[in-house]
Order: sequence, then structure tokens, then C-alpha cells
Amino acid sequence: MLETLNITIIGAGIGGLAAAQVLATRGAKVTVLEQASEVSEVGAGLQVSPNGLAVLRAMGLEQPLVSSGAVLAEKIWLKDYQGAGVLPLDLAKTPEQKYYFLHRSDLINVLLDGAREAGVEVLLSQQVKAVQNGGRPTATLAGGATHEADLIIGADGVHSVVRGALNGPQEPFFTGHVAWRAVVPNSFGRLNDVQVHMGPKRHLVSYPLRGGKELNLVAVQERDQWLSESWSQQDDPANLRAAFDDFGEDARAMLAEVQAVHQWGLFRHDVAARWQDQGLALLGDAAHSTLPFLAQGAVMALEDAWVLGQSLEGAGSLEQGLQAYQSQRITRTKRVVKAATGNAWKYHLSFLPMRFAAHTALRLGGRVAPSLMLKQFDWLYGHDVTQS
Ligand SMILES: Cc1cc2nc3c(=O)[nH]c(=O)nc-3n(C[C@H](O)[C@H](O)[C@H](O)COP(=O)(O)OP(=O)(O)OC[C@H]3O[C@@H](n4cnc5c(N)ncnc54)[C@H](O)[C@@H]3O)c2cc1C
Repeated sequence: MLETLNITIIGAGIGGLAAAQVLATRGAKVTVLEQASEVSEVGAGLQVSPNGLAVLRAMGLEQPLVSSGAVLAEKIWLKDYQGAGVLPLDLAKTPEQKYYFLHRSDLINVLLDGAREAGVEVLLSQQVKAVQNGGRPTATLAGGATHEADLIIGADGVHSVVRGALNGPQEPFFTGHVAWRAVVPNSFGRLNDVQVHMGPKRHLVSYPLRGGKELNLVAVQERDQWLSESWSQQDDPANLRAAFDDFGEDARAMLAEVQAVHQWGLFRHDVAARWQDQGLALLGDAAHSTLPFLAQGAVMALEDAWVLGQSLEGAGSLEQGLQAYQSQRITRTKRVVKAATGNAWKYHLSFLPMRFAAHTALRLGGRVAPSLMLKQFDWLYGHDVTQS
């Protein structure tokens, strides 16, 4: 069925480009409309867990990513904010499940090359203002031009216009967290671990990028409100350092290297109730924006892309294919969003006795049953959408 379809994807982010390649290699004619004047990503890192890698591997992109400097992760370290180890999770014990640290722009470049090789047309500076699905699906661009297709996919992120067309207007809500992101030189000899320093109402995530030459930093702080007009802004590194000045020496040493930093208000929706109807569909953050505390937003977009392709390929009609896609994805993405939200609470415990008890339990668990601690992620990392 896909061979007869003319598909337009709104958004050349990770989800949109992945879906473009998956659908085009199955025979669809795919056009991507991107509002920006170039396809790019923020200068920051991305963790890709085994379930996301399964999709990239099936798309033939694992090797190009390794060649671009992806770092194979060996350990996840949960630490107290002062630096004491709480729980090491040894990823090297499950070598069949690879976990990578990537630079976002390296992933975007690899996805863009993959999509173009599959015959996808990527059109830039095309901001979609509205979509209609009564009759033939149509996207209306900022200049008034219209673009028709058999299927229009909204991979247009948290401020999606397609989400609104399917679910009614809904503004994303502020989650009570802000995040700073920065990349610094890796002068710390960090080879292959991700560390999470957990403090009262804040945490700091760090991991190496690009063959270990760089270190990615994500610093999260709880806030009552987000005051900026824009949902991201440049910030003074001094503000970041001040917000974490009671963290231990190892965390402060990393923050001392920051020369330039951006800050985001973290907004999200609930998982969309309706992902598809009459030739419109949602994918990635447009359907299920999440807090980044489980590192699964982009990974879920990759899973969506694969399942959408499989569902349409195996379906008797577009409608059946889209329904199968929604029903395969909605429960899983709800579980992921809930687990990520729960991590905010676990990472940010501020009441000292509670933090002490929680960290002691984690330390004990790590010593007594280390493989069990890793097994709790089987439902997430062990799920391979390319095999189901
Ligand atoms: C601090 C932080 C750390 C994170 N870390 C991780 C991690 O380690 N691992 C992970 O898996 N995820 C992580 N995430 C989540 C991840 O970044 C997102 O889930 C992912 O980028 C979503 O991809 P997407 O393609 O759905 O949307 P987006 O990346 O938002 O892409 C949407 C695209 O659509 C375009 N667009 C939007 N509107 C229009 C329009 N009207 N017309 C045309 N084009 C339009 C945009 O310009 C953009 O190119 C993190 C997020 C944050 C904030």
C-alpha cells in the first residue's frame, strides 16, 4: 500500500527524518517540510538506549554513527550531589544491548543523508501554519501556499500544529523544571560512563561525546515558573554555576569549563488522546513530549517511525494502518512519560532523611543484586520494535 502513497512530513527533527527514511525505503513518495532555513540541531548530546539503537541499526545507520564518533556506554553512575557513588549500573554486562552517547548534530546529519539516499525531498524554510483533514489532507504554509498529500505526518515537536488539528488546541504546560545544556572539552578522562549527580531540587548529567573529546552537560533545576517569552534562551554560565555551587568538587569542576550555555524551560503535554484521523498522524514529541529524565524522547520518536512504517506496510488500508500504529504506540509511550516524570522526584529528593534512605536502598540493591537493578529496565531497553 505504501507504494501508492504521497506522504508529507512536517518537521525535519529526529522523528521526522527517521520516519521519512523508513517510509521512503518501503516505497512511499515522501516530502519533508521544515520551517528552519537549514536542518540542524542544538549543540548538545543525546543518549540512545538499546531500544532506539535497534531502529537505527535496522535502518542501516549504526555504522555511520560509530564512524561519526558515537561513544559506546559502559556504565550509568548515580551519585549523590557531593560526589559519593550511590549506584553503578554496569551496561558492559549486557553487551548485546548497546547504549550510545551521540552528538545531536551527528545523528541529524546521518538521518538526513539516509533520508536523501532513500529519495526523500527535504524542503527548507517551509513553515506550516495550519493543516486540514476534511477531504484531502492539506498543509497551509506561512506564505499562503498549500501542500496536499495522501497522508500528512506531524513530526513538528511540542508546539505541533497537527496535534492541535487532531486534538483541539492545547498549550503545553510548564513542568516546573529548567535545563541548561553545554558541551565542554573532556579534560576529565571520562571514557564511557554517564554520571547523574542527584541533589535537592537539581541534578547534573554528564557523559562523553565524539570519541571522548567532548563532555556533554545537562543541568536541571526545579523552578516555580518560566518567565521568558521564548522557551529557550542563552544564559550566563555564571548563573548555572551559582545554581549548583553547593554541589561537590567533581561536579563544580565540570561546570567551571562552561563557556557558553543555553537554558530551556521544560514544557510538555499529556500523551495525545488521538494520534491519527483521516490522513493526519502524529509522531515523536508532537504526540508524547516527555521530561528528559529517562533519556527517551528521541528514542521514542525513532520507535514511532519504525512502527508507523511497519503498520502502514502491513495494512489493507491507510485507515487500518494508522489505527494499528496508534494502538501499538500509545500504551508504551504513556508508560515512558510516567517513568520519566517519576525520575524527577527520585533524583531531586530534598528532605535529607528521605534522600538518605533512598540512596541507602539503592546502594544496598546495587551491592546485593546488581543484575536485578539493571533488569528493571528490561521493559524499556529490551523492547525491539523491529522484531515485533
Ligand atoms: C535537556 C534535554 C535532554 C534530552 N536528552 C535526550 C536523550 O538523551 N535521549 C533522548 O532520546 N531524548 C532526549 N531528549 C528529548 C529529545 O530531544 C526530543 O524528544 C526529540 O528531539 C524530539 O524529536 P522530534 O523529532 O519529535 O521533535 P523536534 O526535535 O522538536 O523536531 C521538530 C522539528 O519540526 C520543525 N517544526 C516545528 N513546527 C513546524 C512547523 N509549523 N512547520 C515546519 N516545521 C516545523 C522544527 O523546526 C524541528 O526541526 C532531551 C530533551 C531535552 C530538553
